[in-house]
Amino acid sequence: MKNSTLSPLELVTEALHFAAERHAHQRRKGDAAEPYLNHLAEVACLVAAATKGEDANLVAAGLLHDVVEDTGTSRSEVAERFGEDVASLVMEVTDDKSLPKAERKRLQVEHAAKKSARAKLIKLADKTSNLHAIAASPPAQWDSERCNDYLDWAQRVVSGLRGVNPALETQFDEAERKARAAIASR
Ligand code: ZN
Repeated sequence: MKNSTLSPLELVTEALHFAAERHAHQRRKGDAAEPYLNHLAEVACLVAAATKGEDANLVAAGLLHDVVEDTGTSRSEVAERFGEDVASLVMEVTDDKSLPKAERKRLQVEHAAKKSARAKLIKLADKTSNLHAIAASPPAQWDSERCNDYLDWAQRVVSGLRGVNPALETQFDEAERKARAAIASR
């Protein structure tokens, strides 16, 4: 299936279906262990709203942003199904899993400011969704220090992403405030 044959609505629904299949057995880390697809749907919604529904490729990339990193799907399969633009966006927000975790986290901070404006939107939405999840249901196995370290790191990544969408940046700030409050009140 080639991207060029798909209407914007078909592209987004194909991406939704593909993401649902590939992430079918994955759950979020929080106590509620929500289906991972909830996270992907939230990221897609946030980037759709940030671009007023005018960038279907970006919404599809939002749905697919973890499919290479987490499910072993290749870049070429994403490109084949959804086109080069979507595949490039996904790869811009995909960590190199051959690196140790600490190094991947360091590189997210270092590379944030160098990303394209559209990739920055996906990253901002991703971090916002992750903080919403912590606010709603902090991972039980994370103590307060680990939660706060995560929030400090997310804030450092987001400082390199700012300037692309003030409304989404405000949503991130609000999510951070709620996550810190949720951790403090445990
Ligand atoms: Zn994500």
